[in-house]
Amino acid sequence: MSLLGKKALVTGGSRGIGSAIARRLAADGAAVAITYSGNKAAADETVAAIERAGGTAFAVQADASQPEPQRAGVEQAAAALGGIDILVHNAGVAEFSTIADDTDESYDRQFGVNVKGLHVGTRAALPHLRDGGRIILIGSISGEMAFPATAIYSATKAAVAALARGWAKDLASRNILVNTVQPGPIDTDMNPADGEFAKQMIGSIPLGRYGRVEEIAGAVSFLAGPDATYITGTTLNIDGGASA
Ligand code: NDP
Repeated sequence: MSLLGKKALVTGGSRGIGSAIARRLAADGAAVAITYSGNKAAADETVAAIERAGGTAFAVQADASQPEPQRAGVEQAAAALGGIDILVHNAGVAEFSTIADDTDESYDRQFGVNVKGLHVGTRAALPHLRDGGRIILIGSISGEMAFPATAIYSATKAAVAALARGWAKDLASRNILVNTVQPGPIDTDMNPADGEFAKQMIGSIPLGRYGRVEEIAGAVSFLAGPDATYITGTTLNIDGGASA
């Protein structure tokens, strides 16, 4: 229970990696708010799973790509939690296309959720974030290396890591630590281990398998916890060696 008494907000906590992060932070003792976009049933299931395990959680609908709903969602979560100690920006979208068939709409959707959403959300959270708090951004190894037909997504994730480095400096005087966790291929709805992309990827992962959502949640728990007091502005790749 290393996070007992802490208050955490996890964006995109209804499914996949975000749901696992929310469940892990709650198991560590934090009260947890999650946001979701459209999937209320999945958000309710994450909350119910946390409550069944004895934890505290609630869900707020907030489309991260829309500034006003995103701001309102963060405000609502912060008010209900009574402040924020740990902010995890996990909500993200990925779309496959090459430069030959990219569209303005796809660019705006991916940058809207993956970059603008966390910029708006962090600004909204800042007045509620306690000194000594943690901000953890979920980037991707795609921010550092290219995969087929995902250049826009890669650019969003490079921007995520850049924001974290900048914010680490901006917020150091308040001892707010800001880091990016960069997953490699993790088995979720976005990137199923039995999908077409996985068939191309699997041979390039030294550990020879997709990662599990709990393996990302464990790293977030570490960065949110008492053993990570001198880590800020860095990126942590969790990818079975795929980026090595
Ligand atoms: P999923 O597609 O499984 O889940 C996405 C989550 O984000 C859902 O909770 C979804 O909510 C939420 N979300 C999507 N769009 C919005 C939005 N506009 N506003 C608010 N919430 C939104 O994805 P993963 O769990 O795989 O990915 C989580 C993060 O990890 C993303 O940032 C992704 O880029 C990153 N990542 C994933 C990798 C992978 O291999 N899976 C690899 C590297 C990085 P709802 O349920 O309501 O739709």
